[in-house]
Amino acid sequence: MITAQTIRDEFEKAFAAAPTLITRAPGRVNLIGEHTDYNAGFVLPIAIDRAMWIAARPRDARRVQMIALDFDGARSEFALDAPILRDDANAWSNYVRGVAWALQARGVVVPGIDLVVQGDVPLGSGLSSSAALEVCTATMFVELARAQISRVEIARLCQQAENDFVGVQCGIMDQFASALAQQDHALWIDCRDLSYRNVPLPRGATFVVCDTRKRRGLVDSEYNTRRAECEHAARAFGVAALRDVSLAEFQRREKELPPVVARRARHVITENARVLAAVAAAETNDLATFGALMNESHASLRDDYQVSCAELDALVEIARAQAGCWGARLTGAGFGGCAVNLVRNESVARFVENVAREYSRRVGIAPAVYPCQAMSGSQRVE
Ligand code: ADP
Ligand code: MG
Repeated sequence: MITAQTIRDEFEKAFAAAPTLITRAPGRVNLIGEHTDYNAGFVLPIAIDRAMWIAARPRDARRVQMIALDFDGARSEFALDAPILRDDANAWSNYVRGVAWALQARGVVVPGIDLVVQGDVPLGSGLSSSAALEVCTATMFVELARAQISRVEIARLCQQAENDFVGVQCGIMDQFASALAQQDHALWIDCRDLSYRNVPLPRGATFVVCDTRKRRGLVDSEYNTRRAECEHAARAFGVAALRDVSLAEFQRREKELPPVVARRARHVITENARVLAAVAAAETNDLATFGALMNESHASLRDDYQVSCAELDALVEIARAQAGCWGARLTGAGFGGCAVNLVRNESVARFVENVAREYSRRVGIAPAVYPCQAMSGSQRVE
């Protein structure tokens, strides 16, 4: 387990001095609201109890020297007074470079520092280790520079770093959750105007993430096709985004759309409604309704949006057969990656054991299973 003490010790080993600052930023899992973000709709992630940690110390030279403990202590370094370039031999460092670049573009004077970075968010599993790294970095630089930058701005500039510096087209949800979530709450985000609300989670149950361990192959091309289909549908309805179409309006006119486009639109429109219903269920501590909405979300993603796969469907089916499971759905873009399950607290240990065994038997791959606590967003630890 990573703690302030362990990361401080690692920094001292590497740089023979004590760090002056430690920051931490969590990964996230989306509970409901999938493929709604680019339709100006709603999402409902939690920040999880797995995080990226940075220990840092300012230095006189206007340079940033980085050590990644999870990459065998690999080092990368860049100057702050020259254009910041990528280091593709140390791709992990591009997230730090990108954040420094985005901060400088906003006029923040980024100080020279030494840092070590370490995390326990699994890489590339869909729990957003990349956003955690960006937000952890931004929190550190903003503290050291004593810059007045809101958490919403931190999330935005981290997204900009990932989009324009690293070169990955992601929405704002991951960075937003990592920067703004609150303990024991989910974060409801309106992706149109970035207004948000912390929603208390139902008590007595745990969100358990299961990773199919299936490589996501098709995801980029299919993602682009889905986006184009949603834009097609929005144009047909004469609105800026599918967010603006009510279910009644959709049902009145769905026959005018090509069948595939209509299915895509139906997913987005019903999914937005499910997010709002899930918020209401959470606020009334209604686990059964929350779980049922997760199940409906999965069916809609599988049948209308068609972004599930055999492994995810198997995982969800196995999960739902377990005692104490209120609901299960794929989370993230689909075609592999993770499922999220709502499980009664007393049943979690048995659930983890049974799902791992059954999935291995049926699919021939051992899944990774992570019971998650909803944690607060990024913070200065000391
Ligand atoms: P994810 O779904 O986890 O966000 P990405 O491919 O977007 O997957 O980001 C993973 C990348 O983030 C890694 O390849 C690495 O460059 C960087 N990263 C993640 N975790 C760490 C870590 N512990 N230390 C350094 N870099 C990390
Ligand atoms: Mg990522």
